[in-house]
Amino acid sequence: MVKAETIRNSVRLADVLARYGSPLNERGRALCPFHLDSRPSMTVKNEHYKCWACGESGDAIDFVRGINGCGVQEAMEILNRDFSLGYNLQRGDTRRTPYFNAEREKKVKAYKEYLEAKKQQEIEDITRLRRILYRAYVRGGCIDKEKEMMVNELDRKLDRLLGLEGGDEDAGDLH
Ligand SMILES: [Zn+2]
Repeated sequence: MVKAETIRNSVRLADVLARYGSPLNERGRALCPFHLDSRPSMTVKNEHYKCWACGESGDAIDFVRGINGCGVQEAMEILNRDFSLGYNLQRGDTRRTPYFNAEREKKVKAYKEYLEAKKQQEIEDITRLRRILYRAYVRGGCIDKEKEMMVNELDRKLDRLLGLEGGDEDAGDLH
């Protein structure tokens, strides 16, 4: 979470006053927005304002809260937006985003490894089956159309797994 202090330290109070209609004059005084101020009654010292007429005082966040009648979070968002501070003020995001991405990356990697292992296993199984079938086909000494089709089908499956071919154009053979 971005702290209010971080936002407060990212702006100059004088700039905040000017941005929201109470610029400091050459004598370092501004019109106070918290009472009907006819003569500039607000001064700034150490990044804190004080109105010598109505007594309002505070820092940049207090000022934004005061003129907008909002809470700290909203005041932070207003300053972040209006001064292009670029903080991510979504609740919890600063911590969750990198953690979440790392977790996600781990899961994607594990899943890829799982798929790769599964594919390797499938290739081994098919290769073994093909070897057995092919031997039976050759040993038969005569053309065995059925075994030949089965070997061809296994070849197509292997090609698909190895990414060599679409392998489907001859599928009609099986029907
Ligand atoms: Zn005042």
